Amino acid sequence: MEKYDVITIGGGPAGITIARVLGGKMKVGIIRPEYKSMIYCAMPYALEGLLPIEKTFKKDELVTDSGADLIRGSVTRVSFEDKTVTLDNGEIYQYDKLIIATGADPILPPIKGVELKGVFTFKTQHDLELIDTSIKQRGVKKAVVVGAGAIGIELAQAFNHVNVECHLVDMAGSVLPNLIDADFSEEIQNELEELGIILHLNSKVTSVSGTEYVEGISLDTGEEISLKPSGIVVFAVGMKANTKLFENTPLKIGKHGIIVNNKLETNIKDVYAVGDCTQFVSGITGEVVLGKLATNAVPMARTLAKNLLGDNRIYKGFYNGAATKVGKYFVGGTGFTESALKGKFDVITGNARLTTIFPVMPGAKMIKMKLIADKNTLRILGGQIVGGSPVTDKIDTITLAIQHNLTARDLTSLAYSAQPYQSFFPANNLIVACAEDILTKLKSA
Ligand SMILES: Cc1cc2nc3c(=O)[nH]c(=O)nc-3n(C[C@H](O)[C@H](O)[C@H](O)COP(=O)(O)OP(=O)(O)OC[C@H]3O[C@@H](n4cnc5c(N)ncnc54)[C@H](O)[C@@H]3O)c2cc1C
Repeated sequence: MEKYDVITIGGGPAGITIARVLGGKMKVGIIRPEYKSMIYCAMPYALEGLLPIEKTFKKDELVTDSGADLIRGSVTRVSFEDKTVTLDNGEIYQYDKLIIATGADPILPPIKGVELKGVFTFKTQHDLELIDTSIKQRGVKKAVVVGAGAIGIELAQAFNHVNVECHLVDMAGSVLPNLIDADFSEEIQNELEELGIILHLNSKVTSVSGTEYVEGISLDTGEEISLKPSGIVVFAVGMKANTKLFENTPLKIGKHGIIVNNKLETNIKDVYAVGDCTQFVSGITGEVVLGKLATNAVPMARTLAKNLLGDNRIYKGFYNGAATKVGKYFVGGTGFTESALKGKFDVITGNARLTTIFPVMPGAKMIKMKLIADKNTLRILGGQIVGGSPVTDKIDTITLAIQHNLTARDLTSLAYSAQPYQSFFPANNLIVACAEDILTKLKSA
């Protein structure tokens, strides 16, 4: 029986990070069943035709060049007593330390009709190929995407791009409800409608109908969306930690995944968990929050791997900085939205609208920001941006402010850079303007 210093179950971003940090320094085995690991974030763009599907495959060399072994297979049993994992092909490996990085599976709600052909979720290579084939070979002309989060919105745009009539359904009253507040989503909703995507907000799917293939979908508003003669439904309503392997074992699992401490240790000695399969807390409030993002999985895995090499790092929690693109707009958010904070914090918000570069320069576009702070302490709790150029750097600046407990007052003195092609005039800065707006509102309150 082959023995490893570290066995990692899972070859997603978390597993790959473990390989890249520990490979060559310890004997590391990364176990995953897929033929290819996917660049999930790029999948909607493959469906749209912007990239060939093969471009969404990660290179196995990301693991093997690090010096780690890539072991193809699915783990069917873990013995914490013997410190072994058993694969579906019967192979058994021994570990000194076990890292669980089994990720999360898309949620398919328990609604009548979801078992019909033509009803999909969207995560695997198989999902991508089935949906792509439905469009190219079955001649699908209509799609319903359930869930107007980032994945749902990117999928809806992909369908729209390949001339599939697309209906986007969400029970929330606005799109991207976990990223931006309703009062900040106007341009995004208008843009989706201008692209030709049909929005059904404040609407919950009650059933899916059809005989063999899906033929329609019913909403709790009484509305029926017909998918005849040939349509599909894709549920993009969230992810659930993949912890099936550990049912009826002593491993502690919470509502949202495997419970770990800030060193990513589980309740079992020498067993760790990282990424989407875990349940973790907000770095802002310390309460359990959702955070199934690659940008959480990778830092969790890096923290753990560095500690296994002798560091003493702690993982503080999720801040959930994320972004997407809707037509001509780039959208991002970090921390909490104002609506998520309702009833928990008394908040004050600041708004600013500038241009992406000097307004006198060709190509200048609108960019707007909303900053959310605790009204009592002025500590920053969240931020949102919609604009005509990429927003992730600005979102990350706000995240850094949140991570370091900065206040709106601190942000009024942010030292920034300016250049005609790259920012607004030196006379103003989006983050500073929002912070000043908070102080002005506070004074007049
Ligand atoms: C379409 C899409 C777009 C996304 N876009 C973004 C984005 O823009 N930004 C962002 O931050 N995040 C994005 N995400 C989320 C991101 O992909 C996940 O948060 C991330 O993949 C989590 O990494 P992970 O390694 O924890 O889990 P996963 O990537 O889910 O990997 C889990 C691995 O475990 C393996 N596994 C499971 N069970 C077993 C078993 N029994 N034996 C062996 N192996 C097993 C799986 O096969 C897989 O290899 C997106 C997700 C999707 C689906």
